[in-house]
Amino acid sequence: MLEITDLHATVADKPILKGLSLTVAAGEVHAIMGPNGAGKSTLAYVLGGRPGYEVTGGSVRFNGEDLFAMDPHERAAAGLFLGFQYPVEIPGVSNLQFLREALNSQRKQRGEEPLSGGDFLRLAREKAALLKLDPEMLKRHVNVGFSGGEKKRAEMVQMGILDPKFAVLDETDSGLDIDALRIVGEGINAIMRSPEKGVLLITHYQRLLDVVKPDRVSILSAGRIVQTGGPDLALRLENEGYDAVMADA
Ligand code: ADP
Ligand code: MG
Ligand code: MG
Repeated sequence: MLEITDLHATVADKPILKGLSLTVAAGEVHAIMGPNGAGKSTLAYVLGGRPGYEVTGGSVRFNGEDLFAMDPHERAAAGLFLGFQYPVEIPGVSNLQFLREALNSQRKQRGEEPLSGGDFLRLAREKAALLKLDPEMLKRHVNVGFSGGEKKRAEMVQMGILDPKFAVLDETDSGLDIDALRIVGEGINAIMRSPEKGVLLITHYQRLLDVVKPDRVSILSAGRIVQTGGPDLALRLENEGYDAVMADA
């Protein structure tokens, strides 16, 4: 589903990704772990097409198509979703307005009819219930005054509404308490666990992987994937640390 080959990318002319290769098949959750500054968030931004992140080599195929030939809106319409470590606040725009606009603009790009107000509201309430987010919060301005956990749950509500084919989730577990972590993890499972979907799950901690069980685990270090294994690799990292596991490789 996602095939990254020898990817090189720079930020402010500084090389960050240095020959990163990684494949995620449909039906898989692939966890990416790695030390701070390794380039994990850079990988997420490059996949999303964020300005300032320059691809200087390599290729990414998404469902067989050249990802870098698509602009960020086309990537989203093609079913790519990005969840960020630090969700942005949008004062003046309610969650409902924002989500309906995002969904209908993607539907339009795919040549589908927009969802009616009533159908959209039902969908939004259903996904809020899944993430145990008070539906009243959907009326509030995007992320303004939300706690860390509410922001992450609101982002997962967004993911549920957009129903993407592939999600790249960057430290979705950061700042979550134990209960919120389980709710968010189970939300990811409910929305994304399917033979037709894939997930790249960037995380520092095993605790999210206890809920969202990965099929594969890779270590990203200094801009490259240095090791890939099964779920046991994450457990070893938790117990032994990056240095010890990478020294063994
Ligand atoms: P990770 O998510 O693995 O902790 P990042 O992808 O955030 O790592 O960062 C990788 C490297 O890129 C770090 O050395 C970081 O300082 C650098 N970097 C990230 N964004 C910028 C930027 N906007 N300008 C300069 N350097 C950056
Ligand atoms: Mg970091
Ligand atoms: Mg990061």
